[in-house]
Amino acid sequence: MTTPLPDGQGRFGEFGGRYAPETLMPALLKLEDAFQSAWADPTFHEELGELLRTFVGRPTPVYRADRLSTQLGLNLLLKREDLAHTGAHKINNTMGQALLTRRMGKPRIIAETGAGQHGVATATVCSLLGMECAVYMGVKDIERQALNVYRMELLGAKVIPVTSGAATLKDAVSEAMRDWVSTVEDTHYIIGSVVGPHPYPWMVRELQKVIGEELIVQLDGSSLARTPADVIVACVGGGSNSIGVFHPYLDEDVELVGVEAAGHGLETKEHGASLVAGSPGVLHGAETYMLQDDEGQVREAHSISAGLDYPGVGPEHAYFKEAGLARYVSVTDSEALEAFALLSETEGIIPALESAHAIAWVLREAESLAGKTVVVNLSGRGDKDVDQVKALNG
Ligand SMILES: *Cc1c(COP(=O)(O)O)cnc(C)c1O
Repeated sequence: MTTPLPDGQGRFGEFGGRYAPETLMPALLKLEDAFQSAWADPTFHEELGELLRTFVGRPTPVYRADRLSTQLGLNLLLKREDLAHTGAHKINNTMGQALLTRRMGKPRIIAETGAGQHGVATATVCSLLGMECAVYMGVKDIERQALNVYRMELLGAKVIPVTSGAATLKDAVSEAMRDWVSTVEDTHYIIGSVVGPHPYPWMVRELQKVIGEELIVQLDGSSLARTPADVIVACVGGGSNSIGVFHPYLDEDVELVGVEAAGHGLETKEHGASLVAGSPGVLHGAETYMLQDDEGQVREAHSISAGLDYPGVGPEHAYFKEAGLARYVSVTDSEALEAFALLSETEGIIPALESAHAIAWVLREAESLAGKTVVVNLSGRGDKDVDQVKALNG
């Protein structure tokens, strides 16, 4: 068994931990206790399971991409997280954390968002449970993502503009942290991926594990697959959809492949490939792989897909990389765009640009994957990206 991580200090090997201001330590410790007790409580699982079924639409299907399989000479299966409510896997996490918030007796939730996907998933569950919701967002992102801002407002959330720094995601994280320090008695902060100080990387992984757990059941004796699976592929931004599908497979004989954003190319330094081209450091409360310059300053990430445009990655992936439990690769913006078009034309599925990265790796490696059963975790749908792709194609 490789699984009982993190340890009591929130460490995955040498990665992870809890690097946070003193003022937040009590809240982080309480959160750890609260999640531990909820996760051991069958009533919590019943309640969460019911909402995942009736509100989120789980289990999401596994679909055999027949035309593309024939074209590529392999057996390509898609785990359809794009069919989850709000269009991606993010709601698996926000639903669990919102129920936990109610259990902790807190009436208010805050979150930060870059492109707005995590903000929408958070606003959605707050509306469902009748909770107050504030979402921090950089003014630059507010301009770029007007439709998601309006969605959050329709759902009853307050979007708070952040003007400090570069006025993007990193600054929104700082503002949300500042809010939390002064409101921690009645407020929970929902982080959107397997990043941040302990207990977040652990808690978010536990909530996203449902993806891989479903997949194991769905492929068991299924006619979709020749064998349960040879390779599982997922894109890696913060790392939550990939950990969610990888984790239940850790003790199985399956190759796990995480695909990062190579942006304009690794050599240009304009990319989001923290594991493939970064180095260890401390970012947002955890020791992990990150993009940094020679002085240890965080470097700006770049990806065509906002969800992969992050200079760090969850600490468990850093551990997987060093322990050889998963393999990490990268694909460029233009490869992802090709995959976006091909999946749309061939299978009637417009994928999120994030998810298109995972498809792109399969296209590139088709020869070495010949005859194998390859499962791609299709983390989200591409409706949100259509305008952007249209603009790029002139
Ligand atoms: C946010 C997002 C991602 C990246 O986040 P992870 O935590 O790495 O999963 C990937 N795909 C979609 C569709 C997203 O919205």
